[in-house]
Amino acid sequence: MQKGTIGVTTENIFPVIKKFLYSDHEIFLRELVSNAIDATQKLKTLSSVGEFKGELGEMNVKINVDKENGTLTVSDHGIGMTAEDIDKYINQIAFSGAEEFLTKYKDNANAIIGHFGLGFYSAFMVAKKVEIHSLSYKDGAKAVKWSCDGSPEFTMEECDKTSRGTDIVLYIDDENKDFLEQSKVDSLLKKYCRFLPVPVISGKEQEWKDGKYVDTEVDKVINITEPAWTKKPSELTKEDYLNFYHDLYPGQDDPLFWIHLNVDYPFTLTGVLFFPKIKNNFEVTKNRIQLYCNQVFVTDSVEGVVPEFLMLLQGVIDSPDIPLNVSRSYLQSDASVKKISTYITKKVSSRLEEIFKNDRTEYETKWDDIKIFIEYGMLTDEKFRDAAMKFVLLKNTEGKHFTLDEYKTLIESNQTDKDGNIIYLYSTDTEAQYNYINAATQKGYDVLLMDGQLDNHFIGLLENKLVKSQFVRVDSDVISNLIKKDEKKEVLLTAVQREILTQEFRSQIPAIDKCEFIVSFEAMSPEDSPIVITQSEYMRRMKEMAALQPGMSFYGELPDSYNLIVNTEHKLIAQVRDNADKEIANIVSPIIAEIDDKNAQITALREENKDNKMNDENSEKVKSLENDVNQLRAKQNEIISQYAEKQDLVKQLIDLALLGNGLLKGESLSAFIKRSVSML
Ligand code: ADP
Repeated sequence: MQKGTIGVTTENIFPVIKKFLYSDHEIFLRELVSNAIDATQKLKTLSSVGEFKGELGEMNVKINVDKENGTLTVSDHGIGMTAEDIDKYINQIAFSGAEEFLTKYKDNANAIIGHFGLGFYSAFMVAKKVEIHSLSYKDGAKAVKWSCDGSPEFTMEECDKTSRGTDIVLYIDDENKDFLEQSKVDSLLKKYCRFLPVPVISGKEQEWKDGKYVDTEVDKVINITEPAWTKKPSELTKEDYLNFYHDLYPGQDDPLFWIHLNVDYPFTLTGVLFFPKIKNNFEVTKNRIQLYCNQVFVTDSVEGVVPEFLMLLQGVIDSPDIPLNVSRSYLQSDASVKKISTYITKKVSSRLEEIFKNDRTEYETKWDDIKIFIEYGMLTDEKFRDAAMKFVLLKNTEGKHFTLDEYKTLIESNQTDKDGNIIYLYSTDTEAQYNYINAATQKGYDVLLMDGQLDNHFIGLLENKLVKSQFVRVDSDVISNLIKKDEKKEVLLTAVQREILTQEFRSQIPAIDKCEFIVSFEAMSPEDSPIVITQSEYMRRMKEMAALQPGMSFYGELPDSYNLIVNTEHKLIAQVRDNADKEIANIVSPIIAEIDDKNAQITALREENKDNKMNDENSEKVKSLENDVNQLRAKQNEIISQYAEKQDLVKQLIDLALLGNGLLKGESLSAFIKRSVSML
């Protein structure tokens, strides 16, 4: 029997492994199974080139849990190891600057294990003793047993193993007894080994017998050895991709599209990425892209490798070129990782463009679902944005889709204002904004539907990128103001009519919590509504932003300010005006004249004294005049309000406009209904 000390420069590496790697200790299984797979693959290669002439036999990897003896064994039928091999690969660990490195990466087991080729030694994270029983494939090789109890001393002797390959036997320590549970081992194998290229067997298939599940004689293979991404796209059908997707993420709807990645140069990368149908946020965080290295699962935190906006995608990326064993910040600055990320972005945009070009109908059908990926990508990734300008779609309120260029062509001639800006009208809610959309379409304008989660930001992006273009929500002003053309008509009202109508309408607007109304006049078309209620685009965007950003609560607390715009060209408004002319113009006119007169006096007094301080006498005069004006105004308003109170037509017009905006509620609504009935 040979005895020796494992060749490390640190006094004792095992306590270090146990201590530092504790948090990630489950990866020991991944490491041992990977070694077993490697040994199997190597023998297959040797056999295919004629260097190994014997029978390959059953080429699988078996994981056996023996609860009674407290062992977990990983067995393969690969190349095996001779005593010299063990000495070379297991006993002599190249180990330089160990302590320094360990302290630096103490929180990252992957880094340590990868750096030192310590895969095998990770077994000591969970085992108090480890044995290797191995028989090399080489002619005349002697079976050998290596044993080590966690101190740097090991023993090595001949043994009577007769089958080719290696068994790694772990005597699981007391703190890690859960690795002796079949269910625990199975779940780890599912996580790390699901797509390994060699069958991995763990336990037996079960069947339902006499009221419980019992083991059958059949070995349970836990992996799919040739997952879709390892094949050529030409070998795969649509069903293959869908099946693979459902294997990866059980219980999901079919994905919308997929992209098969396949590069050899300047790096090696394969994979399939899926555009999922996102139903809720929970699924987004749960079912993420998985990163593999030669079919061994490594991680599902792919930040850095995959551009941020594609984190919403699902699927698999497999690359031996991604330096997996380094810290995340290093990963992000790594040049080959950057190249990979750029490649994936390019591939995704060219695939989308391809689907768009080859199957536009399909693309449009799925637009509502992929829109969020594309908009998010355009908002966060410049390269993608530039590419996507060609295939991002706008959808109008009639459900038609357009590219940016197509849409521009559509609206350019009709929706350019007098300053040469192209005005993109949009709605965020076709039901609530129905009247406005209708008014716009009657003028021959087109209205976009922008009701997506990211549309607010996306509009900002488009305004930035499209020259001389503006987006305005269709209810932010009356139609003639949304797209200002030269032929605007003037409002024909006398000063007295304006005074009366303003107060007449203002006094009849029901009080609505947190809402303010400003009455104004527009000479719209006689076919337009008599009264239109609008909310300024600017204020609305400010308030919407305030709702998302804590620092802007000032805007959020302001009441909603609406414009109540009276269409002076409408015949009902003309009727209101004519009635007022008949009924109260002669009462109000003298009051208005008096107010004008007093105001003129105030102005004159101020003018006289504009260079020096007003003397007390004049000051008093101004004060008293102002007082008079206030009283006259109050009187005038009182007269108009009392008159307006009896004008059902005015109330009805206001209420109808409020109703059209969902602003008529509660008591005001029931008053409206009563009044309507009595008017019928
Ligand atoms: P790495 O796999 O990173 O090289 P390990 O510590 O996991 O580091 O293994 C060291 C070496 O031991 C391997 O490169 C391989 O040559 C040998 N080895 C480990 N496990 C087996 C096995 N099951 N069969 C044959 N050789 C093995």
